[in-house]
Amino acid sequence: MITPDKHAVISGGGLAGSLLALVLANRGMRVTVFEKRGDLRNLKAPAGKSINLALSERGIHALTKVDLADQVLKGTIPMRGRMVHARDGTTSFLPYSRDESEYIRSVSRPGLNRILLEKAGLHPNIELHFNSEVISTDPDKRVVSLNSVAASGREVSYDLLFGADGAGSPVRSSLHSFSDIGYRQEMLRHGYKELSMPASADGSFVLEPEALHIWPRGTYMLIALPNMDKTFTCTLFLPFDGEPGFDQLKEESQISAFFDSQFQDAVPLIPSLLTDFMTNPTGRLGTVRCDKWTYGDTALILGDAAHAIVPFFGQGMNCAFEDVSVLAEMLDEGNHQSWSDLLHEFEKERIANTNAIADMALTNYIEMRDLVSDPAFRLRRSLALELEKRFPERFIPKYSLVSFHRVPYKQAQEIGRRQDSVLKTLCEGKQGIAEIDWGRAETLVAELGAMNWAR
Ligand SMILES: Cc1cc2nc3c(=O)[nH]c(=O)nc-3n(C[C@H](O)[C@H](O)[C@H](O)COP(=O)(O)OP(=O)(O)OC[C@H]3O[C@@H](n4cnc5c(N)ncnc54)[C@H](O)[C@@H]3O)c2cc1C
Repeated sequence: MITPDKHAVISGGGLAGSLLALVLANRGMRVTVFEKRGDLRNLKAPAGKSINLALSERGIHALTKVDLADQVLKGTIPMRGRMVHARDGTTSFLPYSRDESEYIRSVSRPGLNRILLEKAGLHPNIELHFNSEVISTDPDKRVVSLNSVAASGREVSYDLLFGADGAGSPVRSSLHSFSDIGYRQEMLRHGYKELSMPASADGSFVLEPEALHIWPRGTYMLIALPNMDKTFTCTLFLPFDGEPGFDQLKEESQISAFFDSQFQDAVPLIPSLLTDFMTNPTGRLGTVRCDKWTYGDTALILGDAAHAIVPFFGQGMNCAFEDVSVLAEMLDEGNHQSWSDLLHEFEKERIANTNAIADMALTNYIEMRDLVSDPAFRLRRSLALELEKRFPERFIPKYSLVSFHRVPYKQAQEIGRRQDSVLKTLCEGKQGIAEIDWGRAETLVAELGAMNWAR
């Protein structure tokens, strides 16, 4: 049987690591967290990394495990749909759901991490160490080596090690050197740059706040998510090379000409555009996959360390949080004979699902940057929402399955594939929703079968 009298070391006190610390400590384990950065509880938001994120059902569910959902949700802004900005400055709103109670939420990354760290810092079973970088681990000896500012070269022993240290995970690299975990990383040939859109002179939002704004431009896009201080954080996603590409935007005149021609309505709203563009780093995006996340009963990687994904489904953090909630549920079931059993079952279930969301996130980039402007796509999307309204037990669109439900990602992906084929068939040759053959729709939806999971 699994006993809680273990010492767990967590590498990384980011989103997944700090949530995991609380989940393990609440179940009686002694937990030591090593975080490379300084103590976020005393720092301002670090520049350069996306400062707000879309939080949805899976992430919220995980926060309920540590009684933090209500506190976190108070500091979020609903995003009820996509506000699409055409080149000529006109806008159109595409709702995420037919149901007004279903929306995603914009949350501050450092704010959320701070809430988790504050609660962890008060827990008697948790020790937090900042400015403490894990360099490597020897899982056979069960020790981590630290390059801690306070005590350089220190070694710390553990019973269980959790690598929650992000896409560049040193724990993953160490494990890979002990046993082949089938690690591979595929970098996107597109990067991202963050820009700030301040509040208006009277302190209000300059765009509709309850929306995720998108300026889709085919091979690239600009997006904006609202913040609680009435600002927006904009992110430009663009190829590294080509026309247009980051390599073509070196001089102020090139940057201005590009934005003036492509994002005319956004430019006056981003007064620090040139400074932000020249000074903020260009971020890289990629997908990490591994065939194994464990080393016997000794170590587990999770969150971005195990499965970094591109951000276009707004699921990286939600998925990392779901790792933690699934682990918590397996611990609470209490029917594993050993840590080794539990870790292997966890790994088996999660790898299939995280591979599915990794694929869906890559596909969603094309939807966001291109398809949202396409009338045929818009018709399919309207039809999907209408089918959900007419046949709620049989048709829940893929976006909703991923964002507003907790149906396993792999199942959502499979259901989504079958739905796509129904939507294409029904929309063939049609210009608008009024032309849909509802009798045929009923037959095709019935063939999809009932949803075999609880709403
Ligand atoms: C532009 C962008 C937009 C995104 N938007 C969304 C979104 O809208 N919704 C969503 O759900 N997800 C989004 N994501 C994904 C999300 O940011 C990640 O999936 C999430 O942060 C993963 O959490 P994590 O704790 O696993 O990793 P991280 O957040 O990367 O945390 C890892 C932690 O480990 C620490 N660390 C690293 N190395 C070491 C070391 N050697 N020793 C000790 N500590 C170490 C780091 O300092 C960090 O605190 C986005 C990502 C990007 C890049």
